[in-house]
Amino acid sequence: MNNVYDLIIVGAGPVGLFASFYAGMRGLNTVLIETRNEVGGALTAIYPEKYIYDMVGFPKILAKDLINNLYVQSSHFNNEIKFNSQIVDIVKNEEDIFELSSKNGEVIYSKTVLITTGMGSFTPRKLPALKGLEHFEKQEYSGIKYVIKDKEKYYGQKVVIAGGGNSALDWAHDFNGNSKSVSLVHRLPDWQAHEESIEKLQGSGINVYQPWQFVGANEGDKLEYVVIEHMETKEQKTIEADLLIVNIGFLPSKTKFENLPIKVKGGAVMVEPSSLESQEVPGVFAAGDSATFEGKLKLICVGSAEAAIAVNHAAKKIDNTVSLKPQFSSNFFSDDFNKKKK
Ligand SMILES: Cc1cc2nc3c(=O)[nH]c(=O)nc-3n(C[C@H](O)[C@H](O)[C@H](O)COP(=O)(O)OP(=O)(O)OC[C@H]3O[C@@H](n4cnc5c(N)ncnc54)[C@H](O)[C@@H]3O)c2cc1C
Repeated sequence: MNNVYDLIIVGAGPVGLFASFYAGMRGLNTVLIETRNEVGGALTAIYPEKYIYDMVGFPKILAKDLINNLYVQSSHFNNEIKFNSQIVDIVKNEEDIFELSSKNGEVIYSKTVLITTGMGSFTPRKLPALKGLEHFEKQEYSGIKYVIKDKEKYYGQKVVIAGGGNSALDWAHDFNGNSKSVSLVHRLPDWQAHEESIEKLQGSGINVYQPWQFVGANEGDKLEYVVIEHMETKEQKTIEADLLIVNIGFLPSKTKFENLPIKVKGGAVMVEPSSLESQEVPGVFAAGDSATFEGKLKLICVGSAEAAIAVNHAAKKIDNTVSLKPQFSSNFFSDDFNKKKK
């Protein structure tokens, strides 16, 4: 058998990143595995430009900045990260070692596993009416987009936004004043967004079309307009558009490990809340959105605490002589500690 890690962390969202840092602090030989080519999970894939207001110690912080901070923090112990590697199965062998297989055929071994796969992989929902217009998705900083990164590069254009949830309304308010025009198109009679954000639409200058739906767009290589239709009267309108932001949610594609006899509820691993360990398969832990138990809250701050609990329990499981409670974090950053490590 090749290298056997102490702990393999599957999924480099905010929770996996914090777990990786924590595993480094506990002196574990660890690797963080991520199916995408970047860290950050939902924060990078879905809402990099959104502010987060409920993060411990930050009155407000952009999702992408929080991930940068977590990445810097997790890099302190030089833990390994493997990108573009999707774990598709986990089995416990006769020697009580976990064998994790990735889609690309690699097998890696570990004494314990922490599942931080969150919502799984992220596939944005597409508008059925835009089928056949996928070439607009390839336009740089214009055309059709599902996720916006570096928003300033998109400013100054005619923008149309599809959706009626928080993300759609947040983008409408953000682009309003930074664009030639902003139109918001929602097919349902009600919004699914915060009251404050809905009220702000009044007198904002955003052209609101509700209940209207998309029925098409221009032909050619470059997006120039979209066609919308009233849900009841069937009246059609053409709206000039350089950029169409589609924010109508993501298709769930939860990770399943067919050969791991863990209990799963709502796509999340059922764990003991005090240790975040699976009762069915000791040595398997889960934290963040991919873990569940009675009264579970899916929040980044909660997931981070769960990561710390799971890693401390994993450390104790690997070596029963160590304390479950870690030392103060400052001990791991002291000159003495770093000299000893060298
Ligand atoms: C629009 C929106 C706004 C939100 N705002 C807030 C907020 O303000 N405050 C708050 O606390 N929470 C907020 N949340 C919730 C928050 O984003 C989640 O609770 C958080 O992302 C959970 O982190 P995680 O690391 O558990 O999972 P995720 O962020 O889902 O990350 C999981 C990672 O695992 C990877 N992965 C999945 N399967 C595999 C596999 N088989 N192999 C390898 N890698 C895999 C994925 O690619 C992903 O990178 C919001 C969510 C959304 C959608």
